[in-house]
Parts: sequence; structure tokens; C-alpha cells
Amino acid sequence: MKVIDHINGSDKTIFSFEILPPLKGQNIQNIYNNIDPLMDFNPPFVNVTYHREEVVYKRLESGLLEQKVIKKRPGTVGICAALQHKYKIDAVPHILCGGFNQEDTENALIDLDFLGIENVLALRGDSVKGEVYFQAEANGHKYAHELVGQVNAMNKGIYLDSELQNNTPTNFSIGVAGYPEKHFEAPSINNDIAHLKKKVDAGADYIVTQLFFDNSKYFEYVEKCRDAGITVPIIPGIKPIATKKHLSILPHRFHVDLPDNLVREVLNCKDNKEVRQVGVEWAIEQCKELKAAKVPVLHFYSMGKVDNIQKIAKEIF
Ligand code: FAD
Repeated sequence: MKVIDHINGSDKTIFSFEILPPLKGQNIQNIYNNIDPLMDFNPPFVNVTYHREEVVYKRLESGLLEQKVIKKRPGTVGICAALQHKYKIDAVPHILCGGFNQEDTENALIDLDFLGIENVLALRGDSVKGEVYFQAEANGHKYAHELVGQVNAMNKGIYLDSELQNNTPTNFSIGVAGYPEKHFEAPSINNDIAHLKKKVDAGADYIVTQLFFDNSKYFEYVEKCRDAGITVPIIPGIKPIATKKHLSILPHRFHVDLPDNLVREVLNCKDNKEVRQVGVEWAIEQCKELKAAKVPVLHFYSMGKVDNIQKIAKEIF
């Protein structure tokens, strides 16, 4: 079933979460162990991230550097198929512009369609290490709205080869990313929202936000999006802070601010066990307010151990 139908068919806030494929060499059982405790809260769908190749340099005995391209977390498509089969819930694979040309994208979407996957979250992806700015593949998409356009065209039976006849249309519900604190490359929030609207106009059914710790930023963002004519559901993304290191990792990686109160509370913790508890309590307060505001879904970023998400979900759902 499509995410948008889950949303439209529910009068309550839905619980959902995102998982990362395990590191290469690990077993899918790791994923199941993480997901099992969250199944009690009836998530109708689960997102599975996609990770691009990384370029690493290895120093050879000669002193020269050898460039190696590695993929640390393969398996998004396989994990999605396994989750749908094992838990009978909908899996939402993330698909990227980065690393794919349009032909690769078409073939990946055909595979997903054959597997009975009816949802995708369409993203541009970030630049790979060593590139300052994002570089599209030759004949690839430069922006996510172009990728949305390709998925939407396939939903109408339009494939790349215009000579093809009697094409079967795919049936994907398309989600896209939104940034309450602005995407870091955008010159202004209004400019970023204008580009977000392009994704919706190209066929996106809903938006999932970047994580945030201050609900007022989400509420202001939704208001600005509505003013810009974006009417689709905007799903808030929640990440409970879990370690002192997050104070620097989260702003660096996700370009978000942390409220002073939260920073102070984390700094006052004597160890990460206490930080984890602070993170749970902060997220519970965020979720209570968001749920009272009737957000369609509370979407959690899990990134590994899920005991904290389980505690939050117990209080909220
Ligand atoms: P876009 O919507 O293409 O926007 C990128 C930038 O270009 C923005 O600054 C935008 O304002 C600007 N822009 C857009 N269109 C135009 C235009 N026509 N002209 C000029 N400028 C334009 N990354 C991964 O690698 N794997 C994942 O699984 C993953 N999952 C994510 C899930 C969520 C919910 C979120 C919020 C992010 C996720 N990301 C993931 C990160 C994402 O790939 C990066 O944030 C990336 O830098 C931007 O992706 P986008 O789809 O928002 O890009």
C-alpha cells in the first residue's frame, strides 16, 4: 500500500521510522533485532536509506596513494523486499540522483516494481568525499525534482525508450525531503521552499523533514510551505540525541541548530547513559506537541540501537 494512502486513511498520527542497511559483511538479523521491538507500535511503513559509494585512499608501500571506491552499506532493495515479506509492512526505499544515470534509475525502479514495492523517497544525495559540490552522472539528474519527474513519468507508463509499446505503468507513491532549517546549499529558506514546490509539482505526494529539535521551526516551515502553495502532508523527522558527541555531529552533518536548553542539559550529563535519557525526554515533549498539532506521522531516525525510540513510542502511541 502507498504511504499517502496510509496517511489519508488514518485519523490518528502514525508511527514510522527509518533504518540504515547494515555495514557490508553484517547479517540482516541485525536489522530484525532492531525492528522487532518497534513492531508493537504498528508502523505501516519503514524507510530504508540508500548509501552512495565512497572514495577512500590507501597508502601503498611505494608511498603512492591508491584510490579505492567502496560501498559500505549496500542492500537497500534486498532489505526492503525482506521487510515486506517478513513483517507485511510497506518498505520505502530511498532512491538517489547521485551515482545513477536515468537508465540506471529506470532499471532500479523496474526491480522495485517487480518486488511489489509501491513507495520511494526520491532524493538528490550529497556529494561524494573529495567533491565540494554535488556532481550528477552523465545523463543523470542534477536535482531531486527531476528524479521525481522520472518516477512520475513511469507511473504514467512513460519509459526512456519512446519506441516501447504497451508499457505497464508503475504505481509508486513518491516522498521527498524538506528542511525546516533550510538545505545548507540554498541561499534562503524561501528559495529552498520554491525548489521544494518543484518536487511537489513534479509528482511528490508528501514531504519528510530533516530532523529538528525545536518544534517552532517545524511549525513555521509548514506555514511557509502552505503560503507557497504546497498542500501535501509534511511529516516531521525526529531524532533523539543519544551521546555528547551528537552536539557536534548533528549540526555538522545535518545543518541543524540545537536549542540552548537542550545543549545545557546534555553538557550537564555525567555520561552518555544520562544523555540518552535527556534525549528521550526531549523527544517525548516534542512528540506530544506535534501529535497535539495533529501531524500525520511521527517519523523517527533510528541509526542503530532503538531502545530510546521504543521508550518514546511507549509514551506517545
Ligand atoms: P534537492 O531537492 O535536489 O535540493 C538540493 C539543493 O538544490 C537545495 O539547496 C535546493 O534548494 C537546491 N535546488 C533544488 N532544485 C533546484 C533548481 N532547479 N535550481 C537550483 N537549485 C535547486 N542522503 C542519502 O545519501 N541517502 C539517503 O537515504 C538519504 N535520506 C534522506 C532522508 C531525508 C528525510 C532527508 C531530509 C535527507 C536524506 N538524505 C539522504 C540527504 C539528502 O540526500 C541531502 O540532504 C541532499 O543534499 C539533498 O537532497 P534533496 O533531495 O533534498 O535535494
